[in-house]
Amino acid sequence: MDDVVVVGGGIIGAATAYFLSKEGRKVRVIERDPAYKKASFPLSLGGFRRQFFQKENINLGKFALEFISDISNTLKTKKNPNPTASMVPNGYLLLFGPEHAEEQYEALKNHIACNAGTKNIPSSKLKEIFSWINPEGLETATYTDSKIEGWIDPHMFHNALKNKAIELGAKFEKGDVKKISDINAKTIVSAAGCWTKELLDDIPVAPQKHTVFRVKCPKHYPEMPLTGDLPSGVYWRPEGKEYLAGSPNSKFDCPDLEPEWDDFENLVWPALANRVPEFEQLKLTGGWAGYYDCNTLDNNAIVGKHPKYENVFLATGFTGRGLMQSPGIGRGLTELITTGKYQTIDLSCFAIDRIFAKKKRTEPYVL
Ligand SMILES: Cc1cc2nc3c(=O)[nH]c(=O)nc-3n(C[C@H](O)[C@H](O)[C@H](O)COP(=O)(O)OP(=O)(O)OC[C@H]3O[C@@H](n4cnc5c(N)ncnc54)[C@H](O)[C@@H]3O)c2cc1C
Repeated sequence: MDDVVVVGGGIIGAATAYFLSKEGRKVRVIERDPAYKKASFPLSLGGFRRQFFQKENINLGKFALEFISDISNTLKTKKNPNPTASMVPNGYLLLFGPEHAEEQYEALKNHIACNAGTKNIPSSKLKEIFSWINPEGLETATYTDSKIEGWIDPHMFHNALKNKAIELGAKFEKGDVKKISDINAKTIVSAAGCWTKELLDDIPVAPQKHTVFRVKCPKHYPEMPLTGDLPSGVYWRPEGKEYLAGSPNSKFDCPDLEPEWDDFENLVWPALANRVPEFEQLKLTGGWAGYYDCNTLDNNAIVGKHPKYENVFLATGFTGRGLMQSPGIGRGLTELITTGKYQTIDLSCFAIDRIFAKKKRTEPYVL
């Protein structure tokens, strides 16, 4: 019998394998596509932020920075002596219209309680800090400018976690797990991302296709933060000499990952040009689509022990934030598995019981 089997070697599987191996557990990770062609993490925007509504999500965002900032020490291996995640700490800027303002003021109370270091600014002052913005229709905004939020290269981060886990004794194997009952292990961790339902059919997580466009603009602002325009749902950030921009349109039941090209002209370009007038001159240079691991009940993580099994734990449903939450989730699951309870960030609000009781705990700040 195996000690621990992790199903899915994506970012959650790799982070969990790392933390469990560090605690001396013998971990086998089973991944059906080691090239990660459709896995969510390599197709993500790499963003990490602490600007959420719920305290647990804020604290997971804070831990992401702490962890990523130290990987040159913690994830160093013989094979990879200088691990990096290529962090770009440009911050996040979230823009709110009147319809979101009240909720955002409530969220700010949680930011302050968690010492998140976010700043609030009325729309009338936005142009003083962000010269490129058109504040029309906005009421308020939050941002960070102290290098505590930004983005990373998801593939490099995954590689560093996986290499360190392997050095600590974890084994990554190719395999397609058809049923949880096919595994014979003391502890099983399902880290199957948006495909979790194939293994655990009572977990309401589904692949939700999201499209990201790559665009070029004659005017480039390399210092621009990852900006989320809540009234339109469009978000963007610089990428090298270009920009990446996410469509607010998402779709279930899409077996292929063909980008929704029409979204660019119909939704994304008009919203970008409205908020940043210089983006009127954009040129589309590429794009891709990937699946969010969407929790269709409440857009929030589902983490913990599955109540119907003796030995099955799971982590899924991150709905666009699994990359940044992976360090905190890997550490939290390891605490739960090895000590029976959370020792650092209390993640019990993400437990599966709320799903069965249909008690929503909705996180509103989904980009
Ligand atoms: C366009 C886009 C933008 C995003 N932007 C961000 C962002 O800026 N910040 C952020 O934090 N998150 C972002 N995300 C979300 C993030 O990518 C996901 O939440 C995260 O990757 C989930 O991690 P995971 O390990 O659970 O899933 P995955 O990365 O999908 O990994 C799951 C793995 O499990 C394997 N698997 C599944 N079933 C089985 C099985 N039965 N047997 C064996 N292997 C199996 C799969 O092959 C896959 O490799 C974005 C996602 C998309 C699509």
